[in-house]
Amino acid sequence: MSLDGRYDPENIFAKIVRGEIPAATVFEDVDTLAFMDAFPQARGHSLVIHKRSAARNLLDIDPADLAAVMTTVQRVARAVRAALSPDGLVVTQFNGAPAGQTVFHLHVHVIPRWNDIALGRHGEGGMAEASALKTLAAMIAERIE
Ligand code: AMP
Repeated sequence: MSLDGRYDPENIFAKIVRGEIPAATVFEDVDTLAFMDAFPQARGHSLVIHKRSAARNLLDIDPADLAAVMTTVQRVARAVRAALSPDGLVVTQFNGAPAGQTVFHLHVHVIPRWNDIALGRHGEGGMAEASALKTLAAMIAERIE
């Protein structure tokens, strides 16, 4: 999957938006959804998507939709900080398979970092326990402002 191509409505995040597969939701508003990454690179690794935009990546999303996503990214990042007290926060977003993108529905990663804890490798970690993700999601959701 390169930068160009058709948006596939059967991608896994579109299925999460439609409720066809479960996710540990952190935050939802009319435009956006934030949920826990199922293969986290760190404890609290969250993802933010637009619920209706059929955008694969940064290049094809409408700027207004991108603004909504980034507003939620900041809200979630603040809540992650409040809930988990990380020493740092990484915000990443990949465009095209050669850049590391694996799900072709635009999304932004919010990844907390702690001193002396190595960051897991993107796309190489194991699947987290659903119950642990739910607990983390609730902790972060509680601190959303
Ligand atoms: P990217 O590689 O940037 O396209 O990011 C896709 C992310 O989605 C990866 O970090 C995966 O761990 C994550 N992921 C894949 N499947 C699921 C799922 N069912 N629920 C939550 N996160 C997922």
